[in-house]
Amino acid sequence: MIIDDQYYDVIIIGTGAGGGTMAYKLAPTGKRILILERGGFMPLEEQNRSNVDVFRKERYRAPEQWYDSAGEPFSPQTNYAIGGNTKIYGSALLRMRERDFEAVNHEAGVSPAWGLKYQDFEPYYTEAEQLYKVHGTVGGDPTEPHHSADYPYPAVAHEPQIQAVVDAIAQQGLHPTPLPLGLTREDDDPTSDAEVSGIALALKFPNVTLKTEANVRYLHTNESGRVVKAVQADVAGKPHLFLGDIVVVACGAVNSAALLLRSANEAHPNGIANRSDLVGRYLMKHQISSVVQLSAPNSGIFQRSVSVNDFYWGEPEFPYPMGHIQNTGGLLQDVIFAESPPILSVFAKVLPGFGLKQLATHSIGWWVQTEDLPDPNNRVRVDGNKLYVEYTPNNTEAHERLVYRWTEVLKTLEKSAKQTVLQRSGLHPRGEVPLPVVANQCGTCRFGTDPATAVLDLNCRAHDVDNLYVVDSSFFPSNAGVSPALTIIANALRVGDHLIGRLQSS
Ligand SMILES: Cc1cc2nc3c(=O)[nH]c(=O)nc-3n(C[C@H](O)[C@H](O)[C@H](O)COP(=O)(O)OP(=O)(O)OC[C@H]3O[C@@H](n4cnc5c(N)ncnc54)[C@H](O)[C@@H]3O)c2cc1C
Repeated sequence: MIIDDQYYDVIIIGTGAGGGTMAYKLAPTGKRILILERGGFMPLEEQNRSNVDVFRKERYRAPEQWYDSAGEPFSPQTNYAIGGNTKIYGSALLRMRERDFEAVNHEAGVSPAWGLKYQDFEPYYTEAEQLYKVHGTVGGDPTEPHHSADYPYPAVAHEPQIQAVVDAIAQQGLHPTPLPLGLTREDDDPTSDAEVSGIALALKFPNVTLKTEANVRYLHTNESGRVVKAVQADVAGKPHLFLGDIVVVACGAVNSAALLLRSANEAHPNGIANRSDLVGRYLMKHQISSVVQLSAPNSGIFQRSVSVNDFYWGEPEFPYPMGHIQNTGGLLQDVIFAESPPILSVFAKVLPGFGLKQLATHSIGWWVQTEDLPDPNNRVRVDGNKLYVEYTPNNTEAHERLVYRWTEVLKTLEKSAKQTVLQRSGLHPRGEVPLPVVANQCGTCRFGTDPATAVLDLNCRAHDVDNLYVVDSSFFPSNAGVSPALTIIANALRVGDHLIGRLQSS
């Protein structure tokens, strides 16, 4: 074992939305900060969204296997690199709605309240939107929560053909609004991500050290278990030990839970910080379907730009939350095709001889997304070196309803906008996202005030361990209809303020 000769004030594990943002926030403190990331820098070629081949290949798959509840292996759709999953995300950066922080009755049960409320997050949402250069427009969306400041950049204009669809949807009394997007505005508006807006800014400070290809395997505590003393990582395959005062875990909800569970010792026999037996439980990842319309030719490489939340809280005939809708953007549809053989075969019948690129330029795709509810049996588990993800979809009735309603809306457009609804897709029948699709994973180390019902306190510090924090999507006690990244970023900025206070007083 190689023992690193430095002693750090803070060790951050993972460089995605949570870890990358935390590094940015703490860097100006001048404290000695070590960042450990299991991946490397993503080659520009792989980041290039117009590269259909890369899109279709294994871009969305980690080079390892996880196991389902039946013990069957699968390749998870997750990205190990500087920036984590934000290197491949759609950069739709939406705030959770005020009511998402409260207990909400869903058709399938209750989505529990958060220990903090929207007003606690609001200033950090504003800071997050500035940092990730979010382009949007406040107003127009009936569910939009209060903003203390406008978006820093104006909304992205719709592709002309999408604008026609937006106008037709609005004529039905619905409220399609610009989708808030994180974009750098340089080099033809590439995505703003946790490398660009987090790690790259942090690395400008001499007190920040980054180690790539550093796969953290184990956290060592002192005898009482109250303090993490050392972080063990395989760096380029060789075991290393790093010592520091504060450890911030941000490996993504699945991997963070797995790391804590793997780090069991005498003081923490069920896994570190797991006195409550809740580490790994309450995994959520949304119900997501795609609906694809045939359309007149389009560029195939346009941004997602439309958000529809008219059914977010339900409708008169179904008074329960249904969820959020956005268009997929151009080439992103290739991912749907690649992941969804049923859709491909339908396309093949309607448009024989079309390649994926042609399909992408003759269609408009829609993501239809519904909140799933926290269930203790949906969980991450480890057994030796094997990582298990056990997940049974729930709230599927609400999801079916949303898919049905959206398909009805699009069918009405056929007459006005000459569009044909090709098919509700399915990433899977009945709206079940296949298990490997863990893009929106969250909830495996929920935060709350009671150590019996939460792994983390409201500062995202482990109830059981004084110097251990988790700042990725693990802390979510319940999901929302919108995607999680902006809330993860805002939370990292919030916890960052707490840590700055702690570092200054030590
Ligand atoms: C295709 C796709 C599209 C998406 N689109 C959107 C969108 O439009 N809007 C939105 O809000 N969300 C979107 N998401 C989800 C969003 O990307 C995630 O919610 C967000 O990145 C999660 O942040 P995180 O910090 O929790 O984890 P991640 O971003 O996954 O970062 C975790 C990091 O930890 C590293 N790591 C893992 N294990 C270890 C270890 N043992 N040792 C060291 N490092 C480790 C990983 O390599 C990674 O860098 C999308 C995701 C995908 C995959």
